[in-house]
Parts: sequence; C-alpha cells; structure tokens
Amino acid sequence: MGSVDPREECIFCRIIRGEIPSEIVLRNRQVVAFRDISPVASTHVLIVPVAHVVDAAHLSGTDGESLAAMFVAAREIAESEGVAESGFRLVYNVGEDAGNTVAHLHMHLIGGRLLSWPPG
Ligand code: 5GP
Ligand code: ZN
Repeated sequence: MGSVDPREECIFCRIIRGEIPSEIVLRNRQVVAFRDISPVASTHVLIVPVAHVVDAAHLSGTDGESLAAMFVAAREIAESEGVAESGFRLVYNVGEDAGNTVAHLHMHLIGGRLLSWPPG
C-alpha cells in the first residue's frame, strides 16, 4: 500500500538503468553524464547523480559527496569535449520559471560557442 517509488518512472533513472537509450559520455559510481537530446550548443551534456534527488532545492547536508562528484565530472567532460580552455557554463534549473522539466537533479554543461549573459 506504499506510494510508488519515483525512480520507477523517472526518465533520468531510466536512462541510468539503461532502459532508455542515450549517448553516455561518463559513468562512475556517483554520476552518469549523457548528451542532451535537444542541445543548445555543440557541447551540451547533462550530469546526473545516480541517487535520485528532485532538484537543487532538495539537497541536504549528506549529498555533498555526489555534488562534488558532479563538479569533478564537469571538469573531466569539459576537457574531453575540448571546451576547458574556451569556457563553458554549468546550470541547475529549479522550478517553473527556470524551465525545469525533469524532476531528477541534473547539471547542464554547455559550451562550444559564445554564451550570452544574462541568459534569455
Ligand atoms: P531542465 O529544463 O529540466 O533543466 O532540463 C532537462 C533537459 O533534459 C532538457 O534540456 C531536455 O532536452 C533533456 N532531456 C529530456 N528528456 C531527455 C531524454 O530522454 N534524453 C536526453 N538525452 N535528454 C533529455
Ligand atoms: Zn530519477
């Protein structure tokens, strides 16, 4: 009679489990990173913690290790994508006004072109 486990239907949990195909660029114990299906730049990778967390506003003090792993992965991917020197943007969207659509924490790594600031 318990509530349904959100990880069953979560699109990013399904990608992590290999149930939905994606182009994975990095995988380790803490994080999985794959190319965004609708890229906004030549490099657009989503870096996702293996543990299901809803968004950046739902983090707690015990999430530090997986959060650090996301940033380490971002540096490694920036290097392998060839944007470490030219620059890149790391984005966490939270809530409707930010356009958040997937309720599993993810960091966007975007690069490969000049990115406007402030964002539109
Ligand atoms: P958000 O707006 O929630 O921060 O970003 C969600 C991102 O996930 C969007 O950029 C969207 O293009 C991407 N996305 C949604 N569904 C899929 C999918 O099935 N596969 C991949 N690779 N990316 C997805
Ligand atoms: Zn999930």
